[in-house]
Amino acid sequence: MSIADNLMDILNTLPPHVRLVAISKTKPVEMVMEAYRAGQRLFGENKVQEMVAKQEAMPKDIQWHMVGHLQSNKVKYIVPFVSLIHSVDSHKLLENINKEAVKVNRVVDCLLQVHIAKEDTKFGFDREELLLLVNSGKLLGYKNVKVCGLMGMATFTDNMEVVRSEFRGLHKLFEEMKPLFGTHFTEISMGMSGDYVVAVEEGSTLVRVGSSIFGERNYAK
Ligand SMILES: *Cc1c(COP(=O)(O)O)cnc(C)c1O
Repeated sequence: MSIADNLMDILNTLPPHVRLVAISKTKPVEMVMEAYRAGQRLFGENKVQEMVAKQEAMPKDIQWHMVGHLQSNKVKYIVPFVSLIHSVDSHKLLENINKEAVKVNRVVDCLLQVHIAKEDTKFGFDREELLLLVNSGKLLGYKNVKVCGLMGMATFTDNMEVVRSEFRGLHKLFEEMKPLFGTHFTEISMGMSGDYVVAVEEGSTLVRVGSSIFGERNYAK
């Protein structure tokens, strides 16, 4: 199976309102270009340096999405071009993205990452922290960020019922938050190679798929 075939297979299963973010982390530019030539324009990375390098090397009509934990001191490197940051996991980070976006006169689209998994290693807000953020009133002052929705990662398990209930919980939280965040609050980023079908059934609008497109990642190299 080629990268183009893999992409086609996935796109054929997605309803038209769901966008596919091809997660190209650890994969070389030549492989990412294969997906580009097959028509893919949304790519996701989880490391700032790798994303900047690929952005510089690749065609400029690509929309780059950041999906990994972002350190405040690295925000400035991606803010000039990033299309969507899925992984905003603290108020401080959001404030920092706003500050850097002001400097380059951009409005940066962001999703708030929510902690939905059982594992406690995952970054993100919980319901109370989202409410605190809204009730702080600070969002109105952040003119250069637009909070477009929520992102979540399910527990790493083969038990699809656990995964489904976590995705369902995220969708419910999204519905609760929607009136508080406003009309541009429209995206739910959930679903990876192993669980994107379930995620779509539970209301995902953005799936982040890596290994099912590019093959397994080899971190040993
Ligand atoms: C790596 C990664 C993905 C894609 O994972 P696959 O299982 O390879 O599809 C999705 N989301 C995030 C946040 C990731 O870091």
